[in-house]
Amino acid sequence: AAKHAGGDAWHWFDAAMDRAADDEARLAAELRRAPAEGQLVALYQPIVSLPDGAPAGAEVLLRWQHPERGLLTPDTFIPLAENNGFIVELGDWVLREAVRQSVEWRDRLGGRAPERISVNVSARQLTDPHFVDRVAGVLLESGLAPHRLMLEVTETAVLSAGVAVAQLHRLKALGVRLALDDFATGHSSLSLLLDCPVDVLKVDKSFVSGTTAGRAGAIIVRNLIGFTTDFGIEAVAEGVETTDQAARLHEAGYRFAQGYLFGRPMSASALEELITVRAIAVA
Ligand code: C2E
Ligand code: MG
Ligand code: MG
Ligand code: MG
Repeated sequence: AAKHAGGDAWHWFDAAMDRAADDEARLAAELRRAPAEGQLVALYQPIVSLPDGAPAGAEVLLRWQHPERGLLTPDTFIPLAENNGFIVELGDWVLREAVRQSVEWRDRLGGRAPERISVNVSARQLTDPHFVDRVAGVLLESGLAPHRLMLEVTETAVLSAGVAVAQLHRLKALGVRLALDDFATGHSSLSLLLDCPVDVLKVDKSFVSGTTAGRAGAIIVRNLIGFTTDFGIEAVAEGVETTDQAARLHEAGYRFAQGYLFGRPMSASALEELITVRAIAVA
């Protein structure tokens, strides 16, 4: 609380900082209760194959249905959870929910179920010594074939958060697939790719849309495909919003894409409907 009643700007600033800290502490306390209160929501965004637009998989994107603030996107609470360590519990919830939903789809939709379910994993989870056992446990319990699970890690997590490459190899040994998320946004070095046992590279939406690096970005997007192909890595273009972008990506050799053009993050039942009724072809 504000300790200073003084009118000068510094004291005002001090009080505002105190209030911000109080708000954050309250949000953190509410977040800890969110799983038990049933406030966590798993949305699913289709990952499609090009050029037919047929759903090939889905990425789970977390939302928090806050009782007063409404439906919150990850940017409002994931960084907080990463800072206080609660991301381990949140990530656990997401993993379980994604795997449960995946098994349900398999049972009900058979061959039409999304081939693969992608789950985002924070550096904090990856460095947790129990993480690999936890993933193994969830898979075993559910009966989901490990290759149907894809874990998405950002290159920043791998490069700057000290995630051991050995940990990635342990995950790979379970049979799960690994994706390098937001590729090209960090301090990417292509040699990182050679060290990491990644199956998929997700090219960041800022490159796909041309908002990062402009013409150079477009050239990178076009040329990465040859590189990934040579290394036996699949490429997924993120943030595809227009048919023009999709057509150009297809032309460049991309076989997978994700973005609002094909579907926003949606409820499990909405994704199921999309799978069963339509696809957006781009060629
Ligand atoms: P991400 O893993 O790179 O996920 C893609 C983000 O891009 C999502 O934002 C998605 O809604 C958004 N997106 C997809 N297509 C388009 C498009 O065409 N245009 C634009 N402008 N945006 C698009 P979202 O859902 O807000 O998630 C943001 C980030 O939060 C994710 O980025 C991921 O890093 C993190 N996140 C989400 N769920 C989880 C989770 O369960 N655990 C962890 N650790 N992180 C999560
Ligand atoms: Mg992701
Ligand atoms: Mg991404
Ligand atoms: Mg991102």
